[in-house]
Amino acid sequence: MKNSHILIAGAGPVGMVSALVLGSAGVPVTLLESASALSMDLRASTFHPPTLDMLAKYGLAQTIVPQGLVARYTQQRDRAEGVIAEFDMDLLRGDTDHPFRLQCEQWKLTEAIKAQLALLPHVKILFDTKVEAVMQGASQVQVAANRLGEMLHLSADYLIGADGAWSAVRRAVDIEFEGYTYPERFLVISTDFEFADHLPQLSYVNYCSDPKEWCVLLRVPTLWRVLFPTRAEESDEEVMTDGAVQARLQNLLPQPTPYRTMHRTLYKVHQRVAKQFRKGRVLLAGDAAHINNPLGGMGMNGGVHDAFNLCEKLLAVMGGQDPALLDRYERQRRTIAIEYINASTARNKREIEERDPVERRKTQDALRATAADPAAARAYLRKTSMLDALARAEAIA
Ligand SMILES: Cc1cc2nc3c(=O)[nH]c(=O)nc-3n(C[C@H](O)[C@H](O)[C@H](O)COP(=O)(O)OP(=O)(O)OC[C@H]3O[C@@H](n4cnc5c(N)ncnc54)[C@H](O)[C@@H]3O)c2cc1C
Repeated sequence: MKNSHILIAGAGPVGMVSALVLGSAGVPVTLLESASALSMDLRASTFHPPTLDMLAKYGLAQTIVPQGLVARYTQQRDRAEGVIAEFDMDLLRGDTDHPFRLQCEQWKLTEAIKAQLALLPHVKILFDTKVEAVMQGASQVQVAANRLGEMLHLSADYLIGADGAWSAVRRAVDIEFEGYTYPERFLVISTDFEFADHLPQLSYVNYCSDPKEWCVLLRVPTLWRVLFPTRAEESDEEVMTDGAVQARLQNLLPQPTPYRTMHRTLYKVHQRVAKQFRKGRVLLAGDAAHINNPLGGMGMNGGVHDAFNLCEKLLAVMGGQDPALLDRYERQRRTIAIEYINASTARNKREIEERDPVERRKTQDALRATAADPAAARAYLRKTSMLDALARAEAIA
């Protein structure tokens, strides 16, 4: 292993987890990150149970659980009627060591990993280093990266492209990113206003359907995050004005004074999966390989699952196993990206925004019946917490 070398593009959660898994096994790793520091952006905020199980093997669940909120319950609500169905994740006890969703900002994970990587001298993170070109030979992969104007040329046994949705690695090796972009954008507003004091029985994770404007209310330790869809015809400038932001919040819950907002992020949402996850010595993982809407919190979690699956195989291949094992990574994780992550998030969006009253009633009745039956609720939770997706991946040869 000491003679091997792995390059990783991107120090987001997926690149950082990969560096830790490989580095902990003694593999020399160089991580190339175009930004000058780890991102502190408020992006994913949910860790699903199996992700925590995987992270626990590296002591990371133990570090981030105390920094987040343990969400035992999740709710499906209706903006007008309130709670439709509440699910108790404790039903997953026995399926996982972490029968809850952890509400915790994703940057807390990358910071925790950075502290561990600092103890591994054979793992290097090069900030301000942007991957620009990738070339492959029979036994090595070469990367050209721009480091503050100076070109670096690096070679390695394998390259992991964990450089996010706009992946330069994916483009450099000419892999198509198949799928579509939704016409509307998503607006995430964070506020220190305490919604739980005003909306009865609110849990930390609440999906609120509505025929006019659905929303998601998510708690992180110091803030509430509210996700709204925007209308396709609204311009970005209109959506981001104080007036429009306040109007959306006031329409959700009227207040005599304006809401204090801490962050506002407007972003385009896509459902896309790369046509290949492997091309020779180049492997894609995380957002570089698949992106989806955030309804269900599967983006970062799915990416972390990719990282564990891939690194386990890379370690086996560097230990002498047939490199064809890496094709199984693609078969397993690409199938999950299409059948589970993409399909469930697209369905979640259709259901939360449904306008037809008959269809809405049907979905809500089904949710009520599922929550009322512990066996059905456990089956539902196994799907939504991605445990079934991992079992399905394991079954793929
Ligand atoms: C506004 C927003 C809200 C989100 N909310 C949620 C949510 O609620 N739930 C959820 O599950 N997911 C959410 N996501 C998605 C989630 O954040 C991603 O799935 C997750 O960050 C993917 O991790 P990653 O490591 O694959 O990619 P990223 O986190 O995007 O990391 C990629 C890294 O690569 C670096 N990079 C890019 N290009 C290069 C290059 N050429 N060379 C070197 N480095 C490069 C970037 O600087 C970055 O650090 C959200 C995303 C956004 C944008």
